[in-house]
Amino acid sequence: MTPTPRPPRVVGRRPPIVTLSFPGMMLTMAYKVVDIYKDLPRTNCGDCGKGSCFAFATAVYLEAFPLEQCPHLESAPRGEMEAKLDASRETGASRRPSSSEQALRSLLAAMAEADFAESASAAGAEYVPGRAPGDGEAVIVRFLDGVYRFTRLDVTAETGDPPTVWVKILLLIYLTRAAERTGDGRGEEAAAGAQGIAVGAAGAGAVGASAAGDAEGAVAATWVGYRDLPNTVSKAQTFEACVARIAERFADAGPALETAVAAIGGRVVDAGPADLAFRIDVLPRVPMLLLFWCSEEDFPAHASLLLDRSALDYLDQEALVFAAEALAGRLLGEDLSELVG
Ligand code: SF4
Repeated sequence: MTPTPRPPRVVGRRPPIVTLSFPGMMLTMAYKVVDIYKDLPRTNCGDCGKGSCFAFATAVYLEAFPLEQCPHLESAPRGEMEAKLDASRETGASRRPSSSEQALRSLLAAMAEADFAESASAAGAEYVPGRAPGDGEAVIVRFLDGVYRFTRLDVTAETGDPPTVWVKILLLIYLTRAAERTGDGRGEEAAAGAQGIAVGAAGAGAVGASAAGDAEGAVAATWVGYRDLPNTVSKAQTFEACVARIAERFADAGPALETAVAAIGGRVVDAGPADLAFRIDVLPRVPMLLLFWCSEEDFPAHASLLLDRSALDYLDQEALVFAAEALAGRLLGEDLSELVG
């Protein structure tokens, strides 16, 4: 039998790659972690706070972490990468930054321009000098029983779990507002408060000042209700709901409330019209006064949470509600990661 001739083997040639293109149609490829990684400097210097270029690329892809946080990316290649990310996000292949992440980005960008030493002073926080201005500087600030570190790139926890995006936003609002307050001259008033001098006459709804009993470095407060602050009507019920949780939980447990308050850095103050009263400096310049009435025969337990009248100089209306929710959550033993702004 005559063997069938085999087709000649082509050595060293691969099938050609065929590219189809249709007029008017643009085929957008997903821009994934490995693609982002390839476009990075790949030095693993860690200056972005992510430890390695691959970790950074993963954060960009999964968390919409901003490319600006790599200080070694030149603006031209960064622009090209942004364009690829935008195109990829259009197709749904990469995650879009949420509104909270976008807010965090713009706050971080504002903070990156700030004078850290001034911001820290205005916010009652600690300033940590860097190797040179803008290089390695940090601000350390306390929020309830947590301690957080700001750099020009991110906010991290000094101890415990990493802060959620909401905690970061609240802390950045606090620092940027404190810095603005210094800029418009009101920081001198804050400094006066920090020396334990009363901040001014009581406003509507104020129940008195507590300068005499304030610890050194604390703001001397003039207490007002949340509703006494401007533009708070739409958020007031949420604010009051978290105070009601405190009353419900500690209805028959005044000593337990005292222990819980002490655990987050609060202290007992003159109770005035209430059965118990505590001052809790939620942030160094944002004190809150928790008044508590124990339950009696015909009356359920009741609580009220008052703010210093300067509170809106440091946090906006929503951030104040978040701070009150965080305060209530910590008193009830909850983790801040359970809170959504
Ligand atoms: S700063 Fe830039 S180059 Fe350095 S590890 Fe982060 S992504 Fe890589």
